[in-house]
Amino acid sequence: MCFNKRVILTNLIKAAVHIDRIMSGMKLIEDSTRINGKDCIKFVPKTTENNFIRIMNYLGGCWSPVGRESGHANTQALSIDVSNGQNCAWTGVVAHELIHALGF
Ligand SMILES: [Zn+2]
Repeated sequence: MCFNKRVILTNLIKAAVHIDRIMSGMKLIEDSTRINGKDCIKFVPKTTENNFIRIMNYLGGCWSPVGRESGHANTQALSIDVSNGQNCAWTGVVAHELIHALGF
């Protein structure tokens, strides 16, 4: 089964110090879900979309709501904290939280 899901992301600049780890977490999911060369999930940068995942690095801990949050119009927060001695910016952790953001 392929969801053919396009996931919109923004605010990568604020996590830019670990942008490589965030990108590799996305790539891990994309590579793991590709079927016969066809993308099932593709992470793309935000342009004019109204609904998107906002990856932030200062919210405390490594977390994401499971799926889109009701009552939160537009942005869906995802925390990859790298402040105050925390370091969530590992490929596996990023992929884990992104999978929650996708609804699993
Ligand atoms: Zn989890």
